[in-house]
Amino acid sequence: MNIILMGPPGAGKGTQAEFIKKTYPIPHISTGDMFRAAVKQQTPMGLEAKKYMDSGKLVPDEVTIGVVKERLAEPDCANGFLLDGFPRTVQQAVALDEILSGMNGKIDLVLNIDVPDDILFDRMAGRVSCEQCKAVYNTKFKAPKTEGICDQCGGSLIQRADDQPETVKSRLEVYHAQTAPLLDYYSHKGNLQNVDGNRDVNVVFADVQKLMEAL
Ligand code: AMP
Repeated sequence: MNIILMGPPGAGKGTQAEFIKKTYPIPHISTGDMFRAAVKQQTPMGLEAKKYMDSGKLVPDEVTIGVVKERLAEPDCANGFLLDGFPRTVQQAVALDEILSGMNGKIDLVLNIDVPDDILFDRMAGRVSCEQCKAVYNTKFKAPKTEGICDQCGGSLIQRADDQPETVKSRLEVYHAQTAPLLDYYSHKGNLQNVDGNRDVNVVFADVQKLMEAL
């Protein structure tokens, strides 16, 4: 099964992707994670991407599409994949359709995790995650037992540079201007399913699972 996880920044895509990964044996392809890894390794692509990420802007389509095309050609994607944070523009969605038609594939399900903007703002500005196991906490809604330390593995908790309030504002503006139009794109194709993401993560996942089981 080929699945796209969509939704505004802070909707909980990463958390739902972690649940999906534990339940279904398909690779999780997060363009945000791939760019962050490239930034950490200081590759030329990472240094280019960082300029956009730090200000909450989208990395140019040609760079992003190239990264995803290469990743989808890897053998572990042959039996399905979960795309998280891609596509984010109509141009990326059209390119994805072209890549998949070249592989005799198609998107089976687009899961849109829907959360109102005011809630997203509080979620992102308080978000911290474990450097080691990637578990996500929120200093306001789901604080770790010990400040700065992961409950699950004892790793250090860090805040993403782009979760600073000014950058969060810019990321939400970019989402509405460039990514929200994709909802119409997939709705017309008939594979869009909306999930109310303003609920407990386990309740959200129960809905996600129902939609995946129905495939
Ligand atoms: P995320 O972790 O998905 O919120 O992504 C973090 C940042 O990486 C975004 O704010 C963008 O700068 C960049 N990024 C991730 N995915 C994409 C994409 N599909 N297109 C362009 N930029 C992206």
